[in-house]
Amino acid sequence: MRRILVTGGAGFIGSHFVRTLLADGYQGWEGARVTVLDKLTYAGNRENLPAAHPRLEFVTGDICDENLLARLLPGQDAVVHFAAESHVDRSLAAAGEFVHANVVGTQRLLDAVLRSGVGRMVHISTDEVYGSITEGSWTEEWPLLPNTPYAASKAAAEMVVRSFVRTHGLNVSTTRCSNNYGPYQHPEKLIPLFTTNLLDGLEVPLYGDGSNAREWLHVDDHCRAIHLVLDGGRPGEVYNIGGGNERTNLEMTEHLLRLTGADRSKVRRVADRKGHDLRYSIDDGKIRRELGYRPLVPFEQGLADTVAWYRENAQWWKGVKHAAGKR
Ligand code: NAD
Repeated sequence: MRRILVTGGAGFIGSHFVRTLLADGYQGWEGARVTVLDKLTYAGNRENLPAAHPRLEFVTGDICDENLLARLLPGQDAVVHFAAESHVDRSLAAAGEFVHANVVGTQRLLDAVLRSGVGRMVHISTDEVYGSITEGSWTEEWPLLPNTPYAASKAAAEMVVRSFVRTHGLNVSTTRCSNNYGPYQHPEKLIPLFTTNLLDGLEVPLYGDGSNAREWLHVDDHCRAIHLVLDGGRPGEVYNIGGGNERTNLEMTEHLLRLTGADRSKVRRVADRKGHDLRYSIDDGKIRRELGYRPLVPFEQGLADTVAWYRENAQWWKGVKHAAGKR
């Protein structure tokens, strides 16, 4: 029986990957034993995963804890590394926490992978490492020019990964994906924040003039791509994963107003975020050519299903918002 360790598996994307693994949704990993290592920060939620499952071991702990890693890693066939501080806004005020979790945490994990002889790892990064692009799209060869402490910590983590591949020959591939959306995303992020506020009859805060553009990727498409990289990606290579659905924040807001049945009076303009990247756009031709990836979830359908999920799972997000004391 194969064994896989997933860091950050109680978060938004990691939990989707783990739920799909446990449902035998990834060919070659059917029946695999899954160890989730998650610190359960404010962003992690044990309820994102089955309370009990015969093939799931849930460990509450920190990727920076070397002793814990030394205990958990031996015998694993692969590691998929999602754990990170992930919210750009928080990184503006708490850069140190981001460097510690994202850079030191990744280095400790790599050290433990090396010592334990784990044969395969996928490191989950972000398109934000490229900075901002006014026109065209980034290929994997573009320089890394991160603009926020979050993006800088993710770029730095990638450099540490690269050094372990080059120096020690570790079998690690890195993915850089665009903005994800889907169920179980923490309501601090744009789509769930706006959706849940609108469902609750509250206002939504739109940064600046709303012209910042992002490319949206359904979490299920993202996780399918990660599985392709896990099994077929080349060591040391980086793979962009895109959704191909570019929308300005204003356009996204309009979609969400329509899907929740709210009107424009709910939109409150707020001062722009410091260092707010204007546009992200990635060229994911490499993973399409090499691994046969293509996104399957049509954007309009995926967004409508996502809003429907938040509508039907108010208990989940009300609990998370209550815990965060945030509206
Ligand atoms: P998330 O914030 O929802 O989840 C992160 C998880 O990591 C949480 O469960 C948290 O408890 C855990 N964690 C944080 N620090 C930890 C530590 N020191 N030790 C162990 N666990 C820790 O994030 P997400 O949106 O699921 O993102 C997952 C990964 O994907 C991150 O690496 C992020 O940078 C990357 N990413 C996300 C997006 C997106 O749109 N959400 C886009 C690009 C890249």
